[in-house]
Amino acid sequence: MTKHIDIIIVGGGVIGSSIAYNLLNDGYEGEIIVFEKDRIYEYSSTPRSAGGIRQLFTTSVNILMGKFGIETYRSFPEKMAIDGERAEIDFEQAGYLFLAKNDTEMKHLEQQMVLQHSHGVMSELLDKSSLLSIIPELTIDDLAGGLFSKEDGYLDPYSVMQGYAKKAKQLGAQYVFDEVDTILTDRNGVQGIRTYSGDIYHAPLVINCAGPWAAGLSEKINLPIPVVPLKRQIIQFDIAKPLARKLPLTVDPTGVYFRHEGETIISGFSEEVKPGIDFTWKRSFFTEQLWPVLADRVPNFEQAKIKSGWAGMYSYNTVDQNAIIGEHPELNGYYLACGFSGHGMQQGPAIGKGMSELIRTGKYETIDLTPLRFERFNEKDLVIEGAVV
Ligand SMILES: Cc1cc2nc3c(=O)[nH]c(=O)nc-3n(C[C@H](O)[C@H](O)[C@H](O)COP(=O)(O)OP(=O)(O)OC[C@H]3O[C@@H](n4cnc5c(N)ncnc54)[C@H](O)[C@@H]3O)c2cc1C
Repeated sequence: MTKHIDIIIVGGGVIGSSIAYNLLNDGYEGEIIVFEKDRIYEYSSTPRSAGGIRQLFTTSVNILMGKFGIETYRSFPEKMAIDGERAEIDFEQAGYLFLAKNDTEMKHLEQQMVLQHSHGVMSELLDKSSLLSIIPELTIDDLAGGLFSKEDGYLDPYSVMQGYAKKAKQLGAQYVFDEVDTILTDRNGVQGIRTYSGDIYHAPLVINCAGPWAAGLSEKINLPIPVVPLKRQIIQFDIAKPLARKLPLTVDPTGVYFRHEGETIISGFSEEVKPGIDFTWKRSFFTEQLWPVLADRVPNFEQAKIKSGWAGMYSYNTVDQNAIIGEHPELNGYYLACGFSGHGMQQGPAIGKGMSELIRTGKYETIDLTPLRFERFNEKDLVIEGAVV
Protein backbone atom coordinates (compact mmCIF):
# COMPACT_ATOMS: atom_id res chain seq x y z
CA MET A 1 0.00 0.00 0.00
CA THR A 2 1.22 3.52 -0.79
CA LYS A 3 -0.31 6.68 0.63
CA HIS A 4 0.47 10.41 0.47
CA ILE A 5 0.09 12.63 3.52
CA ASP A 6 1.56 15.84 4.95
CA ILE A 7 3.10 14.99 8.31
CA ILE A 8 4.15 11.70 9.82
CA ILE A 9 4.77 11.46 13.54
CA VAL A 10 6.62 8.36 14.68
CA GLY A 11 5.56 7.59 18.26
CA GLY A 12 2.23 8.38 19.90
CA GLY A 13 3.43 8.95 23.49
CA VAL A 14 2.91 12.24 25.28
CA ILE A 15 5.30 14.06 22.94
CA GLY A 16 3.99 12.79 19.60
CA SER A 17 0.39 13.18 20.69
CA SER A 18 0.95 16.69 22.05
CA ILE A 19 2.54 17.73 18.76
CA ALA A 20 -0.33 16.26 16.73
CA TYR A 21 -2.89 17.98 18.95
CA ASN A 22 -1.15 21.36 18.96
CA LEU A 23 -0.68 21.42 15.18
CA LEU A 24 -4.36 20.76 14.55
CA ASN A 25 -5.59 22.94 17.37
CA ASP A 26 -3.47 25.80 16.01
CA GLY A 27 -5.15 25.52 12.64
CA TYR A 28 -2.86 23.23 10.64
CA GLU A 29 -4.96 21.91 7.78
CA GLY A 30 -2.78 19.12 6.40
CA GLU A 31 -3.18 15.41 6.99
CA ILE A 32 -1.31 13.98 10.00
CA ILE A 33 -0.66 10.34 10.77
CA VAL A 34 0.77 9.21 14.10
CA PHE A 35 2.42 5.77 13.96
CA GLU A 36 2.42 3.86 17.23
CA LYS A 37 3.85 0.35 17.48
CA ASP A 38 2.52 -0.40 20.97
CA ARG A 39 -1.28 -0.29 20.82
CA ILE A 40 -1.67 -0.47 24.60
CA TYR A 41 1.41 1.65 25.35
CA GLU A 42 2.70 -1.15 27.55
CA TYR A 43 6.36 -0.23 27.22
CA SER A 44 6.15 3.45 26.32
CA SER A 45 7.92 5.76 28.75
CA THR A 46 4.91 7.97 29.32
CA PRO A 47 2.68 5.65 31.39
CA ARG A 48 5.74 4.49 33.36
CA SER A 49 6.68 8.01 34.40
CA ALA A 50 6.51 9.42 37.94
CA GLY A 51 4.48 12.30 36.53
CA GLY A 52 6.39 15.03 38.37
CA ILE A 53 5.68 18.51 37.02
CA ARG A 54 8.01 21.29 38.06
CA GLN A 55 9.36 24.72 37.30
CA LEU A 56 12.39 24.19 39.52
CA PHE A 57 15.02 24.09 36.79
CA THR A 58 18.29 25.97 36.41
CA THR A 59 18.08 26.95 32.72
CA SER A 60 15.68 29.52 31.28
CA VAL A 61 14.36 27.25 28.55
CA ASN A 62 13.48 24.48 31.02
CA ILE A 63 11.94 26.88 33.54
CA LEU A 64 9.76 28.41 30.83
CA MET A 65 8.69 24.99 29.57
CA GLY A 66 7.86 23.90 33.12
CA LYS A 67 5.81 27.05 33.62
CA PHE A 68 3.93 26.47 30.38
CA GLY A 69 3.36 22.86 31.45
CA ILE A 70 1.80 23.90 34.77
CA GLU A 71 -0.49 26.43 33.07
CA THR A 72 -1.57 23.84 30.51
CA TYR A 73 -2.17 21.02 32.96
CA ARG A 74 -4.17 23.25 35.28
CA SER A 75 -6.84 23.77 32.63
CA PHE A 76 -6.32 20.44 30.82
CA PRO A 77 -9.56 18.72 31.97
CA GLU A 78 -11.76 21.48 30.54
CA LYS A 79 -9.68 22.34 27.49
CA MET A 80 -9.31 18.74 26.36
CA ALA A 81 -12.87 17.69 27.17
CA ILE A 82 -14.65 15.74 24.48
CA ASP A 83 -18.42 16.00 24.14
CA GLY A 84 -18.59 17.57 27.58
CA GLU A 85 -16.56 14.78 29.22
CA ARG A 86 -13.63 16.27 31.10
CA ALA A 87 -10.15 14.89 30.44
CA GLU A 88 -9.21 14.26 34.07
CA ILE A 89 -5.46 13.98 34.76
CA ASP A 90 -5.41 14.08 38.59
CA PHE A 91 -3.04 17.03 38.69
CA GLU A 92 -2.16 17.49 42.36
CA GLN A 93 -0.48 20.84 42.92
CA ALA A 94 1.09 19.55 46.11
CA GLY A 95 4.40 21.23 45.31
CA TYR A 96 7.92 20.15 44.40
CA LEU A 97 10.75 20.25 46.92
CA PHE A 98 14.51 19.88 46.52
CA LEU A 99 16.26 19.26 49.84
CA ALA A 100 19.78 20.55 50.51
CA LYS A 101 22.23 19.17 53.01
CA ASN A 102 24.71 22.03 53.42
CA ASP A 103 25.38 25.70 52.78
CA THR A 104 26.99 25.06 49.39
CA GLU A 105 23.86 23.30 48.16
CA MET A 106 21.72 26.08 49.63
CA LYS A 107 23.78 28.64 47.71
CA HIS A 108 23.10 26.73 44.47
CA LEU A 109 19.40 26.58 45.24
CA GLU A 110 19.40 30.29 45.95
CA GLN A 111 20.99 31.03 42.56
CA GLN A 112 18.37 28.83 40.91
CA MET A 113 15.63 30.68 42.77
CA VAL A 114 16.86 34.06 41.48
CA LEU A 115 16.65 32.83 37.88
CA GLN A 116 13.25 31.23 38.51
CA HIS A 117 11.93 34.49 39.99
CA SER A 118 13.14 36.39 36.92
CA HIS A 119 10.77 34.17 34.93
CA GLY A 120 7.87 34.73 37.30
CA VAL A 121 8.21 31.39 39.11
CA MET A 122 7.65 32.07 42.80
CA SER A 123 9.91 29.39 44.28
CA GLU A 124 10.77 29.74 47.97
CA LEU A 125 14.05 29.05 49.71
CA LEU A 126 13.23 27.37 53.03
CA ASP A 127 15.47 27.05 56.05
CA LYS A 128 15.46 23.71 57.75
CA SER A 129 12.80 24.41 60.33
CA SER A 130 10.46 25.78 57.63
CA LEU A 131 10.66 22.41 55.88
CA LEU A 132 8.49 21.06 58.68
CA SER A 133 5.60 23.25 57.58
CA ILE A 134 5.65 21.30 54.29
CA ILE A 135 6.43 17.81 55.65
CA PRO A 136 5.91 17.77 59.44
CA GLU A 137 7.45 14.27 59.77
CA LEU A 138 10.69 15.12 57.92
CA THR A 139 14.01 14.34 59.61
CA ILE A 140 15.90 17.60 59.29
CA ASP A 141 19.00 17.08 61.50
CA ASP A 142 21.30 16.58 58.52
CA LEU A 143 19.61 19.17 56.24
CA ALA A 144 20.27 22.86 55.67
CA GLY A 145 16.96 23.62 53.95
CA GLY A 146 15.36 23.32 50.54
CA LEU A 147 13.81 24.96 47.51
CA PHE A 148 10.04 24.69 47.21
CA SER A 149 7.56 25.57 44.48
CA LYS A 150 3.98 25.26 45.61
CA GLU A 151 2.42 25.47 42.14
CA ASP A 152 4.27 22.33 41.02
CA GLY A 153 3.21 18.78 41.69
CA TYR A 154 2.36 15.55 39.93
CA LEU A 155 -0.27 14.00 37.71
CA ASP A 156 -1.38 10.85 35.96
CA PRO A 157 0.84 10.57 32.85
CA TYR A 158 -1.29 7.96 31.06
CA SER A 159 -4.35 10.20 31.24
CA VAL A 160 -2.40 13.16 29.86
CA MET A 161 -1.23 11.08 26.91
CA GLN A 162 -4.74 9.77 26.26
CA GLY A 163 -6.14 13.28 26.60
CA TYR A 164 -3.82 14.56 23.89
CA ALA A 165 -4.35 11.52 21.65
CA LYS A 166 -8.14 11.62 21.88
CA LYS A 167 -8.29 15.32 21.17
CA ALA A 168 -5.80 15.01 18.30
CA LYS A 169 -8.02 12.30 16.80
CA GLN A 170 -11.11 14.41 17.26
CA LEU A 171 -9.37 17.23 15.38
CA GLY A 172 -8.50 14.89 12.51
CA ALA A 173 -5.22 13.11 13.30
CA GLN A 174 -5.11 9.48 12.32
CA TYR A 175 -3.39 6.91 14.57
CA VAL A 176 -1.97 3.87 12.79
CA PHE A 177 -0.89 1.07 15.11
CA ASP A 178 2.06 -0.23 13.15
CA GLU A 179 5.82 -0.10 13.59
CA VAL A 180 7.87 2.19 11.39
CA ASP A 181 10.79 0.25 9.96
CA THR A 182 12.62 3.17 8.45
CA ILE A 183 12.39 6.74 7.28
CA LEU A 184 12.60 7.13 3.50
CA THR A 185 14.90 9.80 2.12
CA ASP A 186 16.39 11.00 -1.13
CA ARG A 187 18.83 13.78 -1.88
CA ASN A 188 16.14 16.44 -1.41
CA GLY A 189 15.23 15.29 2.07
CA VAL A 190 12.58 13.19 3.76
CA GLN A 191 10.21 11.24 1.52
CA GLY A 192 8.13 9.36 4.10
CA ILE A 193 8.35 6.09 5.99
CA ARG A 194 8.06 2.36 5.43
CA THR A 195 6.39 0.18 8.04
CA TYR A 196 7.43 -3.34 8.97
CA SER A 197 4.29 -4.54 7.19
CA GLY A 198 5.79 -3.09 4.01
CA ASP A 199 3.36 -0.20 3.65
CA ILE A 200 4.79 3.03 2.31
CA TYR A 201 3.54 6.43 3.39
CA HIS A 202 4.91 9.44 1.52
CA ALA A 203 5.27 12.74 3.37
CA PRO A 204 7.68 15.67 3.16
CA LEU A 205 7.91 15.91 6.94
CA VAL A 206 8.60 13.18 9.50
CA ILE A 207 8.90 13.86 13.24
CA ASN A 208 10.87 11.38 15.31
CA CYS A 209 9.05 11.10 18.66
CA ALA A 210 10.00 7.48 19.22
CA GLY A 211 11.20 8.01 22.81
CA PRO A 212 13.69 5.31 23.85
CA TRP A 213 13.67 3.96 20.28
CA ALA A 214 14.34 7.36 18.65
CA ALA A 215 18.09 6.89 18.33
CA GLY A 216 17.70 3.46 16.70
CA LEU A 217 15.35 4.89 14.10
CA SER A 218 17.71 7.76 13.35
CA GLU A 219 20.68 5.40 13.17
CA LYS A 220 18.95 3.56 10.33
CA ILE A 221 19.26 6.66 8.15
CA ASN A 222 22.83 7.29 9.29
CA LEU A 223 21.95 10.28 11.43
CA PRO A 224 23.01 9.25 14.93
CA ILE A 225 21.63 11.19 17.86
CA PRO A 226 23.16 11.12 21.36
CA VAL A 227 20.26 9.38 23.08
CA VAL A 228 20.29 6.00 24.84
CA PRO A 229 17.58 4.12 26.74
CA LEU A 230 18.31 3.93 30.47
CA LYS A 231 16.27 1.83 32.87
CA ARG A 232 14.60 3.68 35.74
CA GLN A 233 12.70 1.83 38.48
CA ILE A 234 9.84 3.04 40.63
CA ILE A 235 8.54 1.26 43.73
CA GLN A 236 5.11 1.80 45.22
CA PHE A 237 4.64 1.04 48.92
CA ASP A 238 2.16 1.31 51.75
CA ILE A 239 3.01 2.84 55.10
CA ALA A 240 1.50 1.91 58.44
CA LYS A 241 1.15 5.43 59.81
CA PRO A 242 -0.22 8.01 57.36
CA LEU A 243 1.45 11.39 56.93
CA ALA A 244 -0.22 14.54 58.21
CA ARG A 245 -0.13 16.32 54.83
CA LYS A 246 -0.04 15.50 51.14
CA LEU A 247 3.61 15.22 50.10
CA PRO A 248 5.16 17.45 47.49
CA LEU A 249 7.32 15.54 45.04
CA THR A 250 10.39 15.61 47.25
CA VAL A 251 13.95 15.04 46.09
CA ASP A 252 16.35 14.01 48.84
CA PRO A 253 19.98 15.24 48.58
CA THR A 254 20.90 11.63 47.66
CA GLY A 255 18.67 11.85 44.57
CA VAL A 256 16.00 9.51 45.97
CA TYR A 257 12.59 11.05 45.29
CA PHE A 258 9.17 10.29 46.73
CA ARG A 259 5.58 11.45 46.53
CA HIS A 260 2.08 10.33 47.38
CA GLU A 261 0.17 8.17 44.91
CA GLY A 262 -3.30 8.14 46.42
CA GLU A 263 -2.79 6.86 49.97
CA THR A 264 0.41 5.02 48.99
CA ILE A 265 3.90 6.36 48.28
CA ILE A 266 5.97 5.99 45.13
CA SER A 267 9.72 6.42 45.08
CA GLY A 268 12.57 6.18 42.61
CA PHE A 269 16.20 6.98 42.03
CA SER A 270 18.45 7.31 38.98
CA GLU A 271 20.79 4.41 39.67
CA GLU A 272 23.85 3.70 37.50
CA VAL A 273 22.82 1.30 34.74
CA LYS A 274 24.15 0.24 31.38
CA PRO A 275 22.21 1.62 28.39
CA GLY A 276 19.66 -0.79 26.95
CA ILE A 277 15.99 -1.67 26.96
CA ASP A 278 15.17 -3.60 30.14
CA PHE A 279 11.82 -3.59 31.93
CA THR A 280 12.66 -5.81 34.89
CA TRP A 281 12.29 -4.35 38.37
CA LYS A 282 13.60 -5.76 41.62
CA ARG A 283 12.50 -5.60 45.23
CA SER A 284 16.18 -5.41 46.14
CA PHE A 285 16.26 -1.99 44.46
CA PHE A 286 13.89 -0.87 47.21
CA THR A 287 15.51 -2.66 50.13
CA GLU A 288 19.08 -1.77 49.18
CA GLN A 289 18.86 1.63 47.51
CA LEU A 290 15.61 3.38 48.39
CA TRP A 291 14.54 2.20 51.81
CA PRO A 292 17.70 3.11 53.78
CA VAL A 293 17.36 6.71 52.57
CA LEU A 294 13.57 6.85 52.92
CA ALA A 295 13.51 5.44 56.45
CA ASP A 296 16.11 7.97 57.58
CA ARG A 297 14.30 10.86 55.96
CA VAL A 298 10.73 10.15 57.11
CA PRO A 299 10.26 7.83 60.12
CA ASN A 300 6.81 6.78 58.81
CA PHE A 301 8.63 5.11 55.88
CA GLU A 302 10.45 2.71 58.21
CA GLN A 303 7.48 0.37 58.16
CA ALA A 304 7.00 0.10 54.43
CA LYS A 305 5.25 -2.68 52.55
CA ILE A 306 5.98 -2.95 48.85
CA LYS A 307 2.77 -2.89 46.84
CA SER A 308 4.17 -2.96 43.32
CA GLY A 309 6.96 -1.70 41.14
CA TRP A 310 7.88 -1.11 37.54
CA ALA A 311 10.71 -0.07 35.30
CA GLY A 312 10.54 2.37 32.43
CA MET A 313 13.00 3.92 30.04
CA TYR A 314 14.53 7.36 30.16
CA SER A 315 15.47 8.51 26.63
CA TYR A 316 18.71 9.76 28.02
CA ASN A 317 20.59 12.47 26.19
CA THR A 318 24.19 11.48 26.92
CA VAL A 319 25.62 14.92 26.18
CA ASP A 320 23.54 17.39 28.17
CA GLN A 321 20.45 15.46 29.36
CA ASN A 322 18.07 17.84 27.63
CA ALA A 323 15.56 17.50 24.83
CA ILE A 324 16.60 17.68 21.18
CA ILE A 325 14.05 19.69 19.26
CA GLY A 326 13.67 20.93 15.69
CA GLU A 327 14.71 20.08 12.16
CA HIS A 328 17.83 18.01 11.66
CA PRO A 329 20.45 20.20 9.94
CA GLU A 330 21.46 17.43 7.53
CA LEU A 331 18.07 16.27 6.28
CA ASN A 332 15.25 18.51 5.07
CA GLY A 333 11.93 17.62 6.61
CA TYR A 334 13.38 15.40 9.35
CA TYR A 335 12.33 16.76 12.75
CA LEU A 336 13.41 15.56 16.17
CA ALA A 337 11.54 15.68 19.47
CA CYS A 338 13.42 13.26 21.68
CA GLY A 339 16.08 12.90 24.39
CA PHE A 340 13.86 14.15 27.22
CA SER A 341 15.69 12.13 29.86
CA GLY A 342 13.57 12.56 33.03
CA HIS A 343 11.51 15.57 32.07
CA GLY A 344 9.28 14.78 29.10
CA MET A 345 5.98 14.88 31.00
CA GLN A 346 6.42 18.43 32.16
CA GLN A 347 7.74 19.54 28.78
CA GLY A 348 5.12 17.81 26.63
CA PRO A 349 2.80 20.83 26.41
CA ALA A 350 5.57 23.31 25.51
CA ILE A 351 7.16 20.96 22.99
CA GLY A 352 3.82 20.37 21.28
CA LYS A 353 3.19 24.10 21.07
CA GLY A 354 6.73 24.92 19.94
CA MET A 355 6.86 22.24 17.24
CA SER A 356 3.47 23.37 15.97
CA GLU A 357 4.78 26.94 15.66
CA LEU A 358 8.03 25.88 14.04
CA ILE A 359 6.32 23.69 11.46
CA ARG A 360 3.47 26.06 10.65
CA THR A 361 5.32 29.39 10.73
CA GLY A 362 9.02 28.55 10.57
CA LYS A 363 9.78 30.01 14.00
CA TYR A 364 9.08 29.64 17.70
CA GLU A 365 6.63 32.14 19.12
CA THR A 366 5.57 31.15 22.64
CA ILE A 367 8.92 29.90 23.99
CA ASP A 368 12.20 30.09 22.12
CA LEU A 369 13.26 26.45 21.87
CA THR A 370 16.31 27.12 19.67
CA PRO A 371 18.67 26.37 22.61
CA LEU A 372 17.48 22.76 22.20
CA ARG A 373 18.44 22.49 18.51
CA PHE A 374 20.49 19.50 17.36
CA GLU A 375 23.26 21.82 16.13
CA ARG A 376 24.18 22.74 19.71
CA PHE A 377 26.29 19.60 20.03
CA ASN A 378 28.63 20.58 17.19
CA GLU A 379 28.54 24.23 18.16
CA LYS A 380 29.48 23.31 21.75
CA ASP A 381 26.57 25.45 22.91
CA LEU A 382 25.15 22.91 25.34
CA VAL A 383 22.19 23.41 27.67
CA ILE A 384 23.67 22.57 31.05
CA GLU A 385 20.80 21.87 33.42
CA GLY A 386 21.72 21.63 37.09
CA ALA A 387 18.45 20.11 38.33
CA VAL A 388 18.21 16.72 36.65
CA VAL A 389 16.36 14.00 38.57
C1 LIG B 1 10.56 5.84 35.70
C2 LIG B 1 10.38 7.15 34.99
C3 LIG B 1 10.06 8.29 35.71
C4 LIG B 1 9.87 9.50 35.06
N1 LIG B 1 9.48 10.59 35.78
C5 LIG B 1 9.23 11.75 35.15
C6 LIG B 1 8.74 12.87 35.87
O1 LIG B 1 8.55 12.81 37.08
N2 LIG B 1 8.48 14.01 35.19
C7 LIG B 1 8.69 14.11 33.84
O2 LIG B 1 8.46 15.18 33.27
N3 LIG B 1 9.15 13.06 33.13
C8 LIG B 1 9.42 11.89 33.75
N4 LIG B 1 9.89 10.83 33.04
C9 LIG B 1 10.21 11.01 31.62
C10 LIG B 1 8.97 10.98 30.76
O3 LIG B 1 8.17 9.88 31.10
C11 LIG B 1 9.39 10.90 29.30
O4 LIG B 1 10.32 11.92 29.02
C12 LIG B 1 8.20 11.06 28.38
O5 LIG B 1 7.19 10.15 28.70
C13 LIG B 1 8.67 10.86 26.95
O6 LIG B 1 7.55 10.78 26.11
P1 LIG B 1 7.74 10.29 24.62
O7 LIG B 1 6.44 10.48 23.96
O8 LIG B 1 8.96 10.93 24.05
O9 LIG B 1 8.14 8.75 24.77
P2 LIG B 1 7.19 7.46 24.87
O10 LIG B 1 6.12 7.64 25.85
O11 LIG B 1 8.11 6.29 25.06
O12 LIG B 1 6.55 7.41 23.45
C14 LIG B 1 7.30 7.01 22.32
C15 LIG B 1 6.42 6.06 21.55
O13 LIG B 1 7.03 5.73 20.32
C16 LIG B 1 6.62 4.43 19.98
N5 LIG B 1 7.56 3.95 18.97
C17 LIG B 1 8.90 3.80 19.12
N6 LIG B 1 9.46 3.40 17.96
C18 LIG B 1 8.45 3.29 17.06
C19 LIG B 1 8.40 2.91 15.70
N7 LIG B 1 9.51 2.56 15.03
N8 LIG B 1 7.20 2.89 15.08
C20 LIG B 1 6.06 3.24 15.75
N9 LIG B 1 6.07 3.61 17.05
C21 LIG B 1 7.24 3.64 17.69
C22 LIG B 1 6.69 3.69 21.30
O14 LIG B 1 5.91 2.53 21.31
C23 LIG B 1 6.20 4.74 22.27
O15 LIG B 1 4.82 4.62 22.55
C24 LIG B 1 10.06 9.59 33.65
C25 LIG B 1 10.38 8.44 32.92
C26 LIG B 1 10.54 7.23 33.57
C27 LIG B 1 10.88 6.02 32.77
